[in-house]
Amino acid sequence: MTTVAFLGLGAIGTPMARHLAVPEFSLSVWNRTPAKAKAFATEFAVRAAATAAEAASGADIVITCLPSSREVEGLLDGPDGLLAGLTKGSVLVDCTSGDPATSRRIAARLAERGIGFLDAPVSGGVAGAEIATLTVMVGGDAAMLARVMPVFDAFGEKIVHCGPVGAGHALKAINQAMLAIHIWSLGEGLVALEKAGVSAAVALEVINASSGRSNSSQNLFPQRVLTRAFPRTFRLALLDKDLGIAAQVAREHKVPSPLLQLTAELFAAAHHELGEEADHVEVVKIIEHQAGVEIT
Ligand code: NDP
Repeated sequence: MTTVAFLGLGAIGTPMARHLAVPEFSLSVWNRTPAKAKAFATEFAVRAAATAAEAASGADIVITCLPSSREVEGLLDGPDGLLAGLTKGSVLVDCTSGDPATSRRIAARLAERGIGFLDAPVSGGVAGAEIATLTVMVGGDAAMLARVMPVFDAFGEKIVHCGPVGAGHALKAINQAMLAIHIWSLGEGLVALEKAGVSAAVALEVINASSGRSNSSQNLFPQRVLTRAFPRTFRLALLDKDLGIAAQVAREHKVPSPLLQLTAELFAAAHHELGEEADHVEVVKIIEHQAGVEIT
């Protein structure tokens, strides 16, 4: 039986880990706030580890799902850290939406000890994690991916090998930039249309039958903005972090990218204004506030 450790029981990590609490795997979980790991372990009859090292010890596959690569790198060292537990031949799979440069650095450190690394960020949101339909974008060695495939299959529907270590993280960041651009531009567009006398319901009916449609126009705005529900499923703080990575990837490769850079700036300012707990779709409130109009 494959022994798996899952570290990071946050909004998306928790539903992902649930799919690994099955007879096929021997699962242990760890979370910075131990109460969450204990509650999970009790509910699903798996082990709660006291430290990251304890979770990784004896595991074939160790999964991290933390806010950013900084927290993943920060978990490596020290007597309670991952390196103290990871064994030769095991694989660290980072499902964090992280950054390529840090992932390459982590992979190099692990390789010195005969430990594998895959970056494997996901898309599909909390809803997709709950019903195991996530898209998993994987960077790293193809043979290692084949070994980890049963784990990815447990919470993913589409598993794509994107390239070498860091490729998954680069692709995820650019996808997030597309999401952010759609939200912001649709917010500006619908506010302008409200002022021009076109209701958001009518505007979306047309846009969703036309070439400007996106997941934002088809799902996010009808379900979250027009209803004024603004549920908190994916923190703006995390999208801000993703956009910083996307802008950095473009700069690193010397790609002229005014739109990516501007989007990163707009969302950083929105994050500053709305705070740590705001959802990413709440940026629309800033556009509305500046224009003095609500999208209804
Ligand atoms: P959350 O903020 O809900 O959870 C973050 C997790 O990381 C918690 O378990 C938290 O522990 C832990 N953590 C935070 N800081 C540290 C630290 N310094 N050391 C150790 N553990 C730490 O984030 P999400 O679950 O929403 O996101 C996780 C990753 O998945 C992010 O990279 C995000 O961008 C990505 N993602 C999220 C999606 C979503 O819809 N939510 C969709 C796709 C990707 P504690 O419980 O103690 O706070």
